[in-house]
Amino acid sequence: MPGGVNSPVRSFKAVSGTPVFISRGKGQYIYDVDGNKYTDYMSSWGPLILGHAAPVVVRAVKKAAEKGTSYGAPCEGEVELAKLIVKAFPSIDMVRMTSSGTEATMSGVRLARAYTKRDYIVKFEGCYHGHADYLLVQAGSGATTFGTPSSPGVPESFTEKTLLANYNDLDSVSGLYDKYRDKIAAVIIEPVAANMGVVPPSDGFLEGLREITSGSGSLLIFDEVITGFRLGMGGAQRKYGVTPDITCLGKIIGGGLPVGAFGGKKEIMSRVAPLGPMYQAGTLSGNPLAMAAGLATLRKLKEPGNYKKLRALSRNMVEGIKEIIKKVGIKAAVNSVDSMFTLFFTETNPVDYRTVLKSDTIKYSKFFENLLRAGIMFPPSQFEAVFLSLAHTERDVDRTLDAVYKALKAV
Ligand SMILES: *Cc1c(COP(=O)(O)O)cnc(C)c1O
Repeated sequence: MPGGVNSPVRSFKAVSGTPVFISRGKGQYIYDVDGNKYTDYMSSWGPLILGHAAPVVVRAVKKAAEKGTSYGAPCEGEVELAKLIVKAFPSIDMVRMTSSGTEATMSGVRLARAYTKRDYIVKFEGCYHGHADYLLVQAGSGATTFGTPSSPGVPESFTEKTLLANYNDLDSVSGLYDKYRDKIAAVIIEPVAANMGVVPPSDGFLEGLREITSGSGSLLIFDEVITGFRLGMGGAQRKYGVTPDITCLGKIIGGGLPVGAFGGKKEIMSRVAPLGPMYQAGTLSGNPLAMAAGLATLRKLKEPGNYKKLRALSRNMVEGIKEIIKKVGIKAAVNSVDSMFTLFFTETNPVDYRTVLKSDTIKYSKFFENLLRAGIMFPPSQFEAVFLSLAHTERDVDRTLDAVYKALKAV
């Protein structure tokens, strides 16, 4: 396997050392093949909001597996999960399941283009929307880590209809609209950026995007693959009160199995085959095991008090880290929204891709290694989010803060 991994950020190339190979996970812990135990804050890059091997999820998957792993025909789990998603998301009347977030965004953009009969899209520097060719332009996540904003193998002609704007900068978007007004199918955005590290939207930014897109007949796509069901039942759109035309989901809705989804208003979604002409398909889409894992996760998550608990826990962690930064006197800043955050080695809180890239990645690498030695697993790259889960406890937070203090001292 190239780099020993099946997805680049797992390789530790952005920090140092060799990737930790995991033998199992349980609750807030993961165990490597050498017998080391870590308190895990990667949460499989977001999906595991209940922690590893949550009993409700394991039971649901086992039960589903006994009834067959794939049918290639509709099944009840798909309907149940679809209902739950439609109920939770103000913007979604109809939804189509996929097997990954990449497929969800790829299909969401195709739908926007089919619906508007326009070709151009606007994306933001540092936002990651999976690895479809035309979305791999100044993308975050692994692409940021390795300084390869666009990948070889993507012909220029594939990305020439992708326009780039600056996150939290409405002028950069209206500038593009001045030039390409009637040609832009959609603006696609992570409503809270999390793939360049966490960067929250500034006041009025999402509202501004809603106005610009509505005013020119183009669509607004929220890529809520991370934020969907992490920031509450209705994701970022409910939290910030801005309703997009198309929403892309993934990660949490699969409960740790491969799932994605895209949805929107009935009028738009009716363009998708077989109701409409826009083709989109998948052999394993709506797979019964994945539906079972997703449903079990969302049903548990929905129980009263869970989001409140997760937010309170996360607040204690974030406030604790901010105090430590002051105490140690190191140049660092924490960006956070609910149960996700990033500690940047910058003087001020980053607001976009350019300010994110000012972070001292050598310091992050040292910080990461110190935490790892203390049995704390943060993401092995500066440009990713730390994710808390319902499996974490106040005791974990206290112990983690202790390790963060020592690690920042060492840095
Ligand atoms: C993870 C992610 C994707 C891609 O999802 P995959 O399941 O890895 O294909 C797309 N958009 C965002 C915002 C993501 O975080």
